Amino acid sequence: MICVSIARGRHRHVIAEHRHLVQQGAKLVELRLDYIDGEVNLKRLLADRPSPVVVTCRRERDGGKFTGTEEQRLMLLRSAIAEGVEYIDLEDDVASAIPRYGKTKRIISLHDYRKTPDDLEDIHARLTTLDPDVIKIATTANQSHDNLRMLQLIQRSKVPTVGICMGDIGTPSRILAGRFGAPFTFATFHHERTLAPGQLSYQQMTDIYHYDRIDPQTVVFGVIGDPIGHSLSPMVHNAAFRRAGINAVYLPFRVPREHLNQFLEDAPALGIKGLSVTIPHKEAVLKKLTSMDNTMVGIGAANTLMFGERGKVVGSNTDYQAALDSLEQALMVHAGRKGTLENQTALVLGAGGAAKAIAFGMKQMGAQVVIAGRTNQRAQQLADALKCKAIEWLNRYSVQPDVLINCTPVGMHPNVDATPYDKHHLRPSMVVFDTVYNPENTLLVKDARSQSCTVVTGVEMFVRQACLQFKLFTSQEAPSELMREVLKRTIGPAKY
Ligand code: NAP
Repeated sequence: MICVSIARGRHRHVIAEHRHLVQQGAKLVELRLDYIDGEVNLKRLLADRPSPVVVTCRRERDGGKFTGTEEQRLMLLRSAIAEGVEYIDLEDDVASAIPRYGKTKRIISLHDYRKTPDDLEDIHARLTTLDPDVIKIATTANQSHDNLRMLQLIQRSKVPTVGICMGDIGTPSRILAGRFGAPFTFATFHHERTLAPGQLSYQQMTDIYHYDRIDPQTVVFGVIGDPIGHSLSPMVHNAAFRRAGINAVYLPFRVPREHLNQFLEDAPALGIKGLSVTIPHKEAVLKKLTSMDNTMVGIGAANTLMFGERGKVVGSNTDYQAALDSLEQALMVHAGRKGTLENQTALVLGAGGAAKAIAFGMKQMGAQVVIAGRTNQRAQQLADALKCKAIEWLNRYSVQPDVLINCTPVGMHPNVDATPYDKHHLRPSMVVFDTVYNPENTLLVKDARSQSCTVVTGVEMFVRQACLQFKLFTSQEAPSELMREVLKRTIGPAKY
């Protein structure tokens, strides 16, 4: 179950949001009395309430907004119990001062805005002595491992426990709470009005993650990177799982570089069977693989991991295959070509992860690859590894390519007026492939179309690599059209 927090200054807004949420399917709502401007009229808020409520009145030191005296606050909490609210939130230090009364269930809560304490189990044990019906512990995740500690605490607890790690590193603990046995998790009314760092809105929890369908059998997938908030993969993969009727969820895991090893060790205990990998981990994960094919050795980067029995970790690179498939299809429809890259001159802009995978693939297909990198040394290193040519960034127009591939982020939202390659150097005989997918119609793509080039967009590659991952994750064919539609919808029509 999702408990949706309502934090508004006016009574009528609280009441209206409560009704709206219940119409949207919410089963439990938290009324944050500390956000109400002026005197709280409990009877008005609670009369004809359309769902059970948790009443909370948080003081400033616990991240709340209540500015009255502590005596006034405790009085409000006692009054809410007297009114027969379904749940009352009592911080650990005031729990003894407010005895159990009537049918109101007691949530004994503790917040730590700085860290997830080492003695989490001891804290939990102490809270169990305060006559709780539910224990709520909200701490701050400073490392990915805090999520696992919190979720295992929930799982082991005899008293129903809502354990939340705050902050974007902690977001997975909010989504996986139910899988580990928490009676509910918290969400906000709107994604722009979060009450705690890392919190998701009710709509995100339901529409993207389908929270209420997550149970102990739900298989966990996700994407690891840092940063990760911008990733569109959760929208695309969760929609695909839903369409295919698979009991799985796909989460964004923000994993800082220094926490990667610990995270990969924790992955099976988190229920993770497979992961997408993005910047900055694509190369570092290779050290953790228990098996690697020749392609992986050649590229030196993985974008997909599958966790098997007895610590097996298998890596793949679906970027490579997706880019080649996208290009081959474009060549197939390109006038006068036979769908082959053999002896085509391919100019690759950029020398990062995407460039590595694509340049390696182009080389395998017999293309003459030239790499133009902003940092010459990085471009040269890649060229040496692939036994191809590197040129300086400023010399990129000295090559007359058959295929031009942008593997830099130039042109990506919000810098949509930038292009890595001047329009006047584009010729109709060229195939132009921009790996940037947000927006799909980058300036480079628009320029290439205006010059009658054959165009491959980053959306094409993104959908293909996601479909290949879906197949690895589930052994089923991916619902590719749905995934394309979700991606385009998420990027937004304004940019098309
Ligand atoms: P990366 O490893 O960080 O590499 C980025 C490359 O771009 C580096 O060589 C970097 O140069 C260069 N670069 C960055 N800013 C530049 C600028 N202003 N001018 C010239 N060069 C610049 O990133 P990546 O993983 O390869 O991703 C690169 C792009 O590919 C991104 O836009 C990403 O969205 C896209 N991509 C798309 C898909 C898809 O499915 N469509 C999949 C993967 C990646 P330095 O070496 O000097 O830093």
